[in-house]
Amino acid sequence: ARRRRLAATSGPGRTADGQPVGLLANLGQPAELAAAHAAGAEGVGLFRTELLYLDRPTPPSLDEQIAMYTELFTRAGDGRVVVRTLDAGADKPLPFLANDTTGTTEPNPALGVRGYRLRRRGPEVLASQLKAIGVAAQTTGAQVWVMAPMIATPAEAAEFAADCRAHGVTRTGVMIEVPAAALQARAIAAEVDFLSIGTNDLSQYAFAADRECADLADLLDPWQPALLGLIGACTEAGRVAGIPVGVCGEAAADPALAVVLAGLGVNSLSMAPAAIPAVRDSLANHQLADCQRAAEAALAAPDAARARTVARSIARTME
Ligand code: PEP
Ligand code: MG
Repeated sequence: ARRRRLAATSGPGRTADGQPVGLLANLGQPAELAAAHAAGAEGVGLFRTELLYLDRPTPPSLDEQIAMYTELFTRAGDGRVVVRTLDAGADKPLPFLANDTTGTTEPNPALGVRGYRLRRRGPEVLASQLKAIGVAAQTTGAQVWVMAPMIATPAEAAEFAADCRAHGVTRTGVMIEVPAAALQARAIAAEVDFLSIGTNDLSQYAFAADRECADLADLLDPWQPALLGLIGACTEAGRVAGIPVGVCGEAAADPALAVVLAGLGVNSLSMAPAAIPAVRDSLANHQLADCQRAAEAALAAPDAARARTVARSIARTME
């Protein structure tokens, strides 16, 4: 007989037996906080900052940045706000860095100077961003976490953490989106305060499959056991280091996969606000032990389709 489903329409994310799994929102501008609050998000798990930089001939001034972050942090309330530093590259060209950083000069923009790598050519852009975030965090007293995208090595993580400290940012993390970073997650976790797994890019790079290529959607399926294995390496590293590990890619928005991610030891899931209620509901209907069994079965499956089927049957997740 199917267990009676309990609707968890509000409140923090938890499994049926009370294991917390934070439910956070992915946002691109402060105005989207309204939707996050309406969905009962516990905070912002990914604030994408690209909007501030695109389609303009000069970089945003320090004051302009401070104003935007002050608005964001003020409106966010009590929950944490995880700000991601600029993640531009040749696919999102920045005219003020166009000479050598972006534009059409890179044949493989996804493999080029993007994300944290921009620091190699425009360190002042990152420095100014961290300064603005640090000032707004201090004046608002908000719970501000800052992370860098596209970190590939422990040395980059250490360098970013030092940059953050120099600008008064106290909670520093990195995104795990590059398979090399997942494989060295323990050494990276020793450098920072949290990890956030970007499954969109981690899939793209693990499977050598352009995330924009619809013909390769089967390879980019977040149920791929190899992707789940990389996620498991990160949660294990987080457990050893005693730091939280979140997922902020599209995978976090799938209610059945959320059960598997909880079973893998993920501490928070960040997604589009509209996806939060169904994920909350799904977690509330599963014991942690069921989540762990579903995760083990999905990891052992030979392909994404069978991972999905076996995990769903174990977790008895309703569609
Ligand atoms: C990701 O790569 O999973 C991610 C969350 O970042 P973005 O989609 O902005 O690249
Ligand atoms: Mg990404």
